[in-house]
Formats: sequence, C-alpha cells, structure tokens
Amino acid sequence: MNVLVTGGAGYIGSHAALRLREDGHAVTVVDDLSRGNAGAIAALERIEAAEPFHFVRADLGDRDRMTAVLRERGVEVVMHFGAWTYVGESVEQPLRYFRNNTASALALIEAMDAAGVGRLIFSSTCATYGEPPPEEIPIAETCRQTPINPYGRSKLFVEGMLRDYAQAKGRDFAFAALRYFNVAGSDRHGRIGEDHDPETHLIPICLQAALGQRPDVTIFGTDYPTPDGTCVRDYVHVEDLVDAHVAVMEALRGGETRVYNVGIGRGYSVREVIDACHAVTGVPFRVRTGARRPGDPPTLYADPARIRDELRWQASYDDLAAIVETAWRWMKTHPAGYADRARLAR
Ligand code: UDP
Repeated sequence: MNVLVTGGAGYIGSHAALRLREDGHAVTVVDDLSRGNAGAIAALERIEAAEPFHFVRADLGDRDRMTAVLRERGVEVVMHFGAWTYVGESVEQPLRYFRNNTASALALIEAMDAAGVGRLIFSSTCATYGEPPPEEIPIAETCRQTPINPYGRSKLFVEGMLRDYAQAKGRDFAFAALRYFNVAGSDRHGRIGEDHDPETHLIPICLQAALGQRPDVTIFGTDYPTPDGTCVRDYVHVEDLVDAHVAVMEALRGGETRVYNVGIGRGYSVREVIDACHAVTGVPFRVRTGARRPGDPPTLYADPARIRDELRWQASYDDLAAIVETAWRWMKTHPAGYADRARLAR
C-alpha cells in the first residue's frame, strides 16, 4: 500500500516505517524533526527496497501542506504517530499538548478529508483511561476513559473527533485507534532505536545510568497501592506494536472502525524494571527513591483479548529482560543515540 507515516523520525514511527519498507509498501514520512531524529531518516533511506521512500519535513498542523503531500504521494492510508508523549511535560505545558497532539491531528484529518484519503491508524494511549478502578484491571477497551493528565486528554479528544468524523463519512472513512501501553525495546538488528531528547522513559534512563551517563535512577514514588509500592506498567516491544499496526492496516480494508489495547497483558513494577536492567546490563547502577511524578496512575496493564481474538495478534516478546536486551544492544552501540551517526558521518 501507499502509506504516510507521520512522526516517522520518532521512536515508534521509525520502527513502523522500517517494517513497512521491508514489507514492500511505499512509504512517505512526514516529520518536523522537533522531537524526531534526522539519523532515523538516514537509516530508513539506507534500507534497500523496491518501493520508493520519501521524507518530507513539515508541520502536521499545516493543513494545506499536508493536503498537498497526501495528493502528490497518492497516499492510501495514514499511520499517525507524530505527537508529544511526556506525561510530566503535559502537566506543565498543557496547551502545547493540545496544540501538538489535538490541533495537529485535526489539521491532518482535514487534510485527509480534502485529499480524499479514507484510512487512518491513530496512536492512542492507555493514558486515556486515567486511573481505572481496581476491578477494571487488566484494562479492556470498554473501560471508562477519564484521563488524569493533559497528555491522555489530548489523545482522547482525537479519538472523539475520529469517531464523529467516521460516523459522518460512512464507508468513505475508517480508522483504528491503538491504545498503546508502555512501548520499549529496539529493532532486533540494532539499525534504529530509541533516542529521545529529553529522555524521560524508565528503561532508557536505566540504560543510560548503566552506561555511566547518569549518576543514578530515581524511582518516582514508593507509596503507591501496588505490591512493592512502585507503579506497575505493561511493557510491549516496539516490533510487536508495529505488528499490530500492520495487522490493523489489513483489517481496515473492510471499512470498519476498530479500537484495540496493545499491551502484553502483564504488569511490571518500576522496581522489577530496574532489576531487569541491572540483570541485563550487569551494571549495578545506583537507585534513589523520590517523590511521585504528577499525573502517574498506580497500575496500568492491558487485557489484550480483543486484538488477540480479532486480529490474531500476540506479543512475541513476553519477557521484560528480552525487551530490555534489544534496547541495551542499541544503547551500547549508540551511546549518544543518533548523534553518533552524525559524528561518524563527519
Ligand atoms: N519512572 C521512574 N523514574 C524515572 C522514569 C520513570 O520511576 O526516571 C516511572 C514512572 O513514574 C512510571 C514508570 O516509571 O511509573 C514508567 O514511566 P515512563 O516515563 O517510562 O512511561 P509512562 O508510563 O509515563 O508512559
């Protein structure tokens, strides 16, 4: 198919673009590089594939530009990854999240409407569920969506817009909302990886500590109502997540809107993640305990029954250490992330 990947220079978008290239799809990446990496684009350009690859540096909120790109490239389906993803930052700067995540998505949908592109796969999040009551865990898609931070709300608004738009367009538009849990790991061949600036995610932070790039790791809160007092999350490997996108892209051909949770269905505490990072790296990096981070719910893990039953999706990585291994491989060979490539190229 002819696929537009927004945010294709980012962590998840670049893994999706890579897989789509390898599967023989024509891929256009749009990214403004405000958070994405030019190095990821360079890695994608190096993949040998029969179908063309095209990179456009543009702001997704620029509706006219996006309309032109969709038309010129003959796009059939959009995978919309381009967004900001830091819960803490969203609490401090909510308007930027509504601008970058909600308003930009609206502009993209308007551009798709103008260009007559009728399929969209949207990167939603378990943060739309807020703080589900204990009886709702593991979390099914039917769980009430009451976000407790602007990040979750910025994504929930987009789900709502898509539902209303799909309703109005009938058979001409169908979307999938994939509600990601905690995405982790890297391409198993180490060609691309996770490189955020600033980095706030737990696993890369632990690995940076193992590399000696940070003095220690701080656990944000040890007084949560969880077995060891630290937050529990569901860590899904980025390649498994991309698999879910490929499966749902096929399913969308039928023209029916779909919503799926994407997680492995098992929760790990912050302490368990740190233990896994200690074990995989063999480095006993220092750990401190600190205050809770605003906006963090205690426990989030998925009930992945719907995606398993309807799309036959199953995570191939069901073990935290195996996920951390792939992230560690990338970090060890790219201790400064994509900056290493830039340095090597000079
Ligand atoms: N976390 C932590 N220390 C850190 C970074 C994260 O204790 O330096 C915790 C965070 O509070 C959350 C979990 O690790 O409970 C996962 O956080 P992350 O930022 O990786 O993903 P999120 O759940 O926010 O999407």
